[in-house]
Amino acid sequence: MASLKFEDIEKNYDDLTVVKDLNLEINDEEFIVFVGPSGCGKSTTLRIIAGLEEISKGNLYIGDKSVNQVEPKDRNVSMVFQNYALFPHLNVYDNIAFGLRARKVPEKEIKELVTNAAGILGIKNLLARKPKELSGGQQQRVALGRSIVRKPEVFLMDEPLSNLDANLKVQMRSEITKLHKELKTTTIYVTHDQIEAMTMADRIVIMKDGVIQQVGTPKEVYNYPNNVFVGKFIGQPA
Ligand code: ADP
Ligand code: MG
Repeated sequence: MASLKFEDIEKNYDDLTVVKDLNLEINDEEFIVFVGPSGCGKSTTLRIIAGLEEISKGNLYIGDKSVNQVEPKDRNVSMVFQNYALFPHLNVYDNIAFGLRARKVPEKEIKELVTNAAGILGIKNLLARKPKELSGGQQQRVALGRSIVRKPEVFLMDEPLSNLDANLKVQMRSEITKLHKELKTTTIYVTHDQIEAMTMADRIVIMKDGVIQQVGTPKEVYNYPNNVFVGKFIGQPA
């Protein structure tokens, strides 16, 4: 687990600025939700943390270490994507084990880690199945399993529930919250869904056009919006 610090970060694609004046400190063990309309720079921000995008300006710290020059594979973070990105030809066990094998973890240890992760996520009975034999919610659990098994310092989640139907979405929201209470891994969760943000976050970061509009607890941003945009965005019905 680690804290994070964004210091004056900016990201440009040629002359398009997609993230600007990003200054924020995230506490160890915190569950932070970045929320905002499509195109406001949420995924870019996550990719910056993962090291998948170079920043144009500023500094990023994970723990107390500047990671600007640190390769993605050497950052102890793990990303869960919207489309799960499971390997279709591998069964659940091998999907979860994949990253551990890549790091040459001994098979005996892998077995313990995978079984433990599958237990936490309630998918122990699915280990022999291929992704196509799983429901959307089950696939999402496997994707989470692949992340937690690596015991990263930071979880990054990019709209992980957006492909699920409404009921499952509500269920997975509380499962992810529960998982966080158990593992306490610092989590940065991205969504365009303000209800998801309000129900899951310790603190919400509201973005518009690459710029943070407000940071606060769900109560704070709901009761005391900084501007009209925040008030409208947070107050709108689901
Ligand atoms: P969000 O996740 O909030 O929907 P993104 O971070 O994906 O937003 O995108 C922010 C902005 O950056 C958008 O205007 C998008 O078109 C632009 N963008 C993202 N990736 C690239 C890229 N590789 N080249 C140019 N523009 C990009
Ligand atoms: Mg996105």
